[in-house]
Amino acid sequence: MSRRPKLAVWKFASCDGCQLSLLDCEDELLALAGEVEIAYFLEASRATVKGPYDLSLVEGSVTTAHDAKRIERIRRASRHLVTIGACATGGGIQALKNFADVDDFVSVVYATPAYVSTLATSTPISAHVPVDFELHGCPINKGQLLEVITAFLHGRKPGIPATSVCAECKRRGTVCIMVAHGTPCLGPVTHAGCGALCPSYDRGCYGCFGPMETPNTVSLTRQLHVLGMDGRAVDRVFRTFNVRAFEEARTNG
Ligand code: SF4
Ligand code: SF4
Repeated sequence: MSRRPKLAVWKFASCDGCQLSLLDCEDELLALAGEVEIAYFLEASRATVKGPYDLSLVEGSVTTAHDAKRIERIRRASRHLVTIGACATGGGIQALKNFADVDDFVSVVYATPAYVSTLATSTPISAHVPVDFELHGCPINKGQLLEVITAFLHGRKPGIPATSVCAECKRRGTVCIMVAHGTPCLGPVTHAGCGALCPSYDRGCYGCFGPMETPNTVSLTRQLHVLGMDGRAVDRVFRTFNVRAFEEARTNG
């Protein structure tokens, strides 16, 4: 009997929401467990199997020197490594500290700052080791996660579109809330994947899937100003779960 591929799921600085998306695949989880050996997934089981692993899913960003070393070990033990979620692909909301003095934060937040050992920045996994695929979202879409796992098991490229949320609005027939109602929306520069959830409830997208490929942030910023947002408001809307990735896109845009 051929052995099942070994799947490992790793946690770095994160809220666990993306790992929960995997556990949330209730209807598909048994079928998945039949296809792969879930060898390391502490959120699901304390029982672990030694590597090497065929596919590692990595959630979370690197915020400590210890984790910077740990991800290198995980990369060496993994045939394929896929990062999942805004923290792992972009640094997460914790990357807000990249734009301030981390010691100021630590002194305000923790009662005993001396016990806190942290890097000055929060960085995506790709800043430390080569990554085979990045799956965006805060949290990720479970259908897309299953597509990525299936693709790697069959040795093909994941069928994940790199278009914007606007394309998803068009596909589901949602009238553009920015054009029709003047509601500010980050959809034009945000990576597709959620099915244009927020606009379908008359709410502007706030970019939880991070920047799409080649986002035109300059043009969108101009439109946000037309809709009445001042510079500070625009900065705030871009500085949430994907602050590092959007700031990079705005600098290069
Ligand atoms: S509502 Fe937002 S995401 Fe949808 S088409 Fe308009 S700008 Fe794009
Ligand atoms: S519309 Fe935007 S903010 Fe809402 S779930 Fe989708 S990507 Fe996230």
